[in-house]
Amino acid sequence: MSASLSYYEPPAEKPSSFPSWVKNIPFLLMHLACFLVFLPDIHATPAAIALCIGLYVLRMFGITAGYHRYFSHRAYKTSRFFQFVMAWLGCSAMQKGPLWWSSHHRHHHLHSDQEEDVHSPHVDTLWWSHIGWVLSPEYTHTDWHAIRDFSKYPELRWLDRNHWVPGLTLAVLCYLIAGWSGVVWGFFVSTVITYHATFCINSFCHIIGRVRYKTTDKSKNSALMALITLGEGWHNNHHYYQSSANQGFFWWEFDVSYYMLRTLSFFGLVWDLRGVPEAKLHPKPEAVVSPALPPAEGAGNAVQPPVMVSLQTATQSVLASLTQAAEVATQAATAAKQLAANAGSSLSQIADSASVQAKHAQQSLAHAAEVASQSAASLKESVSQAAHSASETLWHALESAATLAKQASHSASEAINASGDYAKHAADSTKLAASQAAEAASHAWTQAAEKLSQAVHSLNGKATGLVPVTLAASTNG
Ligand SMILES: [Zn+2]
Ligand SMILES: [Zn+2]
Repeated sequence: MSASLSYYEPPAEKPSSFPSWVKNIPFLLMHLACFLVFLPDIHATPAAIALCIGLYVLRMFGITAGYHRYFSHRAYKTSRFFQFVMAWLGCSAMQKGPLWWSSHHRHHHLHSDQEEDVHSPHVDTLWWSHIGWVLSPEYTHTDWHAIRDFSKYPELRWLDRNHWVPGLTLAVLCYLIAGWSGVVWGFFVSTVITYHATFCINSFCHIIGRVRYKTTDKSKNSALMALITLGEGWHNNHHYYQSSANQGFFWWEFDVSYYMLRTLSFFGLVWDLRGVPEAKLHPKPEAVVSPALPPAEGAGNAVQPPVMVSLQTATQSVLASLTQAAEVATQAATAAKQLAANAGSSLSQIADSASVQAKHAQQSLAHAAEVASQSAASLKESVSQAAHSASETLWHALESAATLAKQASHSASEAINASGDYAKHAADSTKLAASQAAEAASHAWTQAAEKLSQAVHSLNGKATGLVPVTLAASTNG
């Protein structure tokens, strides 16, 4: 809520150029359009009926919890955004803008069932209190003075001026969801039912029902109307204490709008729901017309027949189940949150540990790489040295071998040369010796032959006959 917004001063109203009844044409057409359900192409499909019921409940909530309990009576608090949401929702029920509606309702509470009351069935007719005043050109304007606390919001003034926008949007949505059957059932029929359920509070809830509290008006409590209007039927309660968010004051006075508001407050969308003070709830006997008693088991009474009692019991049990379900959901959400927190913490620990391990692994790898690099360098050096040494040794060996070979070759050559010379000398010597030997032998032989011849000659003289044969044999040999 912005406190900086100043109160709105409306400009002077210009007289309308249209005759007043023209403004009632949409309202009348809305009723006539309900007869379209009899067209052969319009069907009560599940989607169309669901739209009809769902949009009735939703928009009735917009009227009772929004237009009535919030904008007219400020029975709870909400944000500026959700205030607009509630205004839009109420507006989609086609009962004019939130400022128009609330300003007239505040006037009703100020003068209820008195001469100045806009829609009292006791001052005027039932017809007038129900629908006549809505069609009257007398009450088409917004009473800006009565709604100064909300008329300062420009978005609410805009909605009040263009109050047909949410309804038209809804009609288009109905068409998109369920076609023309959706428009006829979900929009026309649903809207007309919402109209008359709301109007019944102004008309019948000031005539039929039970009076618990003494008030200055003739408001009544009606369980049937409370059922139809999501809790608005406890109208005597409401006229007795207007500013509470609940109109059903006791557990058996079911008030669906209030249950829905409690649900919204559970989610933080609305807050500070005002209740009924204990002293107001149980006032002095003189302020009470009939005491607040729960319905008798199985016994009917004028206001609450047995079927209503069963319905109330069923509603209470459904609400108890919903409350339990909400509690279970809350517990589950808390547990899930805790689990998520634990999981988050574990994940964080795992991530930390993994990070440390990864760091260690990185360090080990770096170390291993360094060692491997050093080993490789050392190995390379060793291999290089070995290769060098082997090469050198081989070279030396080869060199030695070459030298040896060279020497051997030289020696061999020398030996060959030497042996050649020796052989030559030897041959020559031998040849010479042989020659000399032959010569000597020849000489010796010549000498021997000469001596032999001489010897023979000498012998010849001495021995004739044997000497010629011996001489021939030794010459041939
Ligand atoms: Zn009221
Ligand atoms: Zn009333």
